[in-house]
Amino acid sequence: MLFNTASHSTDHTAQEDIMTTTVGVIGLGNMGGGMAATLARHAFPVFGFDLSEAAREKAAAAGVTPATSLAELFDHVDVVIISLPKAEHVETLCLGKAGTEADTLMTLGAPGLIVIDTTTSTPETSRKVAAALATRGIDFIDAPVSGGPKGAATGSMSMVIGAEDDVLARAMPVLEAMSGTRVHVGSCGAGNVAKIANNMLAACHLISTAEAVSMAARAGVSPEKLLEGLNAGSGRSGATQVMFPSWVINKAYDSGFSMGLMRKDVGLASDLTARLGMELPLSATVAQLWDDSSATLDDSEDFCAIVQRTDPTLYGHGE
Ligand code: NAD
Repeated sequence: MLFNTASHSTDHTAQEDIMTTTVGVIGLGNMGGGMAATLARHAFPVFGFDLSEAAREKAAAAGVTPATSLAELFDHVDVVIISLPKAEHVETLCLGKAGTEADTLMTLGAPGLIVIDTTTSTPETSRKVAAALATRGIDFIDAPVSGGPKGAATGSMSMVIGAEDDVLARAMPVLEAMSGTRVHVGSCGAGNVAKIANNMLAACHLISTAEAVSMAARAGVSPEKLLEGLNAGSGRSGATQVMFPSWVINKAYDSGFSMGLMRKDVGLASDLTARLGMELPLSATVAQLWDDSSATLDDSEDFCAIVQRTDPTLYGHGE
């Protein structure tokens, strides 16, 4: 069943859209698992697929029907949400790999299907996949997200969206159910440009805040009091308002966003900068610091652990 494109101006209501629109979520990890559960809570029929059986079982416990293959999932769905680690996973899922014959979204998806890719990917991948799928009558939106696993599980994430207006309007009931804020930044690919810029800043703010908090601690001001001051002043950011209070100062380091994924995003920013022929000295230094951190911090660690490189005594686990 497809969305009525004029659902808000006719007698066809948003609730009817929900009841008649079946959603498939591919990638049921920290983010995709929460998105699938949120959509199920909103009464969408939701099918989920993940290579990991544990992820499928966790989603099933949250009201999602687990599919054991892509073919099974595509038998049912009108809208597909993708939440995979990297751009290359999205491209392989959608278009396959040269020389292999595996099922893909391109071969299994029916004309009229809407694909919402929430992966932090590259604008080039989004545009390439969208152009190929368009030849089959399938629409593709890039809608990368912020807000972490908690935002995905509560439907309060924010999205930066690259899409044509008409496709966005058709996808809106699903997007509204899974996010609190949506910013339409341009056509396909623009969402990932905006997300890469966002994470370039987050990567920078985490380290610059670690340096400022460490400096102030040595000068006799406690981290807690300093953060209160910063958050009342012009030095505030996502690092001072969310990351430090939630995951650093309490040494929890359990944000649900891995070091490996943040290093990937910092790499996406460096690649985009290089492709544009730009030199950005501050960003280049920050990228080098994230790269160097692999000497002591594994990809599986929490991304906030980067601050331990600035001041191991202040930010270490204390073990
Ligand atoms: P994750 O590693 O927790 O989940 C990814 C899931 O994809 C895993 O369950 C894995 O088994 C599954 N998977 C991998 N390849 C697959 C395939 N071919 N088919 C089906 N399933 C497959 O990652 P995450 O933290 O949920 O992040 C997903 C995306 O969201 C990434 O691009 C990340 O950068 C972005 N993101 C994450 C956060 C966060 O706080 N975790 C926040 C914003 C954006």
